[in-house]
Amino acid sequence: MSIPEDSSVQVISLYRAEDKIHARAVHGWFAAWRWGLVWFTQLLFYGLPWLEWNARQAMLFDLGARRFYIFGLVLYPQDFIYLTALLMISAYALFLFTAVAGRLWCGYACPQTVYTEIFMWVEKLFEGDRQARIKLDKAPWSFNKLWRKAGKQTAWIATGLWTGFTFVGYFTPIRQLAGEVLAFGLGPWEAFWILFYGFATYGNAGYMREQVCKYMCPYARFQSAMFDKDTLIISYDAERGEPRGSRSKKADPKALGLGSCIDCTLCVQVCPTGIDIRQGLQYECIGCAACIDVCNDVMDKMSYPRGLIRYDTENGLSQHLSRLQLVRRMFRPRVLIYGSILLLVCVAMAVSLAMREPVRMDVVRDRASLARLVEDGMVENLYRVQLMNATEQEQRVSLSVQGLPGLRLRDATVVTLAPAEAKWVTLALRLAPEAAQAAGSGVHKIEFLLTREGPEAQAGPHEKSSFVVPR
Ligand code: SF4
Ligand code: SF4
Repeated sequence: MSIPEDSSVQVISLYRAEDKIHARAVHGWFAAWRWGLVWFTQLLFYGLPWLEWNARQAMLFDLGARRFYIFGLVLYPQDFIYLTALLMISAYALFLFTAVAGRLWCGYACPQTVYTEIFMWVEKLFEGDRQARIKLDKAPWSFNKLWRKAGKQTAWIATGLWTGFTFVGYFTPIRQLAGEVLAFGLGPWEAFWILFYGFATYGNAGYMREQVCKYMCPYARFQSAMFDKDTLIISYDAERGEPRGSRSKKADPKALGLGSCIDCTLCVQVCPTGIDIRQGLQYECIGCAACIDVCNDVMDKMSYPRGLIRYDTENGLSQHLSRLQLVRRMFRPRVLIYGSILLLVCVAMAVSLAMREPVRMDVVRDRASLARLVEDGMVENLYRVQLMNATEQEQRVSLSVQGLPGLRLRDATVVTLAPAEAKWVTLALRLAPEAAQAAGSGVHKIEFLLTREGPEAQAGPHEKSSFVVPR
């Protein structure tokens, strides 16, 4: 449809490319905390797959063998409940931190924040801080621009690929994987996941940055549901800061009718999402506290008290609450509920792990036949039993059955399981004709029992099943 030139109709494009944000580097108490968490999380992530434990990789999620190794713990798919508990712990910890102090996770420990921080550090290394980067971006191509951009890209790609390689190293023994990489002998899936994860890291931390937080992160959408007026958020104290305006360090702001904000805009320049915290709480704020650090520096230079931008609550700002009052208000029902559930799930998981059976058993009835008559008129039912050694020591176990008088195993069954081995054994249960007659035709509940052999013989798990007596 063509629009007449003098038409009053205005065409507005709903798509607008985001302006590139050149965030200024920042130092200070909160930046130190963020870097501390970058070091902590990345030493764990990059280092853990290289750790050895009992002559194998300490952390290995072996999907092919359907077994997870976490130090001394051997988990089978049947241990899925622990994964559920882990997810619950993560969710409730997130709810708790958010209710107490807003987007703590986003600002300090989220992988998007951590990798963006690393990539921004690399960027600063090659291209300098904010002003130098803005200048370099505007400058025409030259040798200086080329080597700086190429150096940054090389370091970014290397970091992305190393991250992808480490990620895959949690699922395939990492030393073997390193050998395959060096020999150019990677399998297609391993190559795909290294490249995919590497590319995602490169794209998200190098280019997407705040856009991931603003548009893609699901947590950003619902985290405000955990906020209330007593949640600590990064706040600008407008009462103290306004009216803002520049002035000399020696001038008395009161005499000039000014507040503490000198309108230096440094808080905007350091903001990774490019917002102005002085306009109030905005959903784009990821709670990184960079604006607090930089504003505190400004306040120091002006010899004003720190904390023009600070962690405070909505009630704290409006009612001028002291730090002690803020801390007291932390213990409110929603925080206590999140905290109690978190504690409960943690304790339940710890107890369950401590009481976990070292040998697990799964019983499956043979699907081919329900029951059959064998020699001497005996009734026989067949079962397949999966035995799983959840320890790193060899285990000898014997199987028995109970629940129906006269029921016995056809063969004596003692099974030896190698460390972390899972084994299927076929079992036949027999019932003499008189006992079968006494029990009557139909389905009878029975129970398989497992006993750990050896000097410290111990009763193991019980598994319910059924025995069929035909008419
Ligand atoms: S850094 Fe502080 S003083 Fe400077 S503009 Fe921001 S709030 Fe005002
Ligand atoms: S306003 Fe910007 S700099 Fe300040 S905490 Fe939020 S995201 Fe960080």
